[in-house]
Amino acid sequence: MKKMTGYLSTMSFFLLLTGILCPDAAGKKIHRTVVLSFDDAPRSHYTFVAPLLRKNRFGATFYICEYPGFENKEQYMTWDQIGAIGRMGFEIGNHTRTHKHVNRMQAEEFHRELEYIETQCEAQGLPRPTTFAYPGYDYNRMAQDVLRERGYTSARAGEERTFDPQKDTNPMLLPSYTIKGDSLSTLEQVKAILENAAPGTIPIFCFHGIPDLAHDWVTTSPDIFREIVKYLRKKKYEVISVGELTRRMEAGTL
Ligand SMILES: [Zn+2]
Repeated sequence: MKKMTGYLSTMSFFLLLTGILCPDAAGKKIHRTVVLSFDDAPRSHYTFVAPLLRKNRFGATFYICEYPGFENKEQYMTWDQIGAIGRMGFEIGNHTRTHKHVNRMQAEEFHRELEYIETQCEAQGLPRPTTFAYPGYDYNRMAQDVLRERGYTSARAGEERTFDPQKDTNPMLLPSYTIKGDSLSTLEQVKAILENAAPGTIPIFCFHGIPDLAHDWVTTSPDIFREIVKYLRKKKYEVISVGELTRRMEAGTL
């Protein structure tokens, strides 16, 4: 009898999960997850992106570096603005001080690059970052070891594929898609990634400035981004930060 009860409760739990997680013809609630991240600290993250995300109650991670030209405040955020985004509740991640690729550094220099951003966050009263994004998407073993040593729990790479919790078990190598552009094809690309994501997998998107006045090769137009946000809301996506994804990985709840 006890066995039967256990079986039934497992079954009801499974059915409950199915009902919550899987869209079906009967139009049950669709509840899928997507991760948003934004790199390189362009000014539009403060003036446009963070307010729009907050209005929609979306989570996100902003990966900060002082890209060459960071002193131009028409193009990049000030540290006070970065602090303000963190205080709005968004996660602030580390992207090295100078955007130097990790495979062009020794461990000692990488420590210094990380420490600089950690110190700036501390001066803003923000938590010490626990997530990192590899500049230029280059990664290596040294970087993963240093990150773990400094208490980081995740790192985002590139690879243009969807995160699969069954296969992507190393949180120091989270795959992501770079999203950029100013035409409807960008919106179509995002929709295709979301629609083609297998059940249980989670697309992680990497945006730069919206717009990005310093890096026109990765800019996204505000109009297209508004459409992406509208689409995520309409389709009832749960939008979370990299940190939240990592916590769920650790807890085994993905
Ligand atoms: Zn970058």
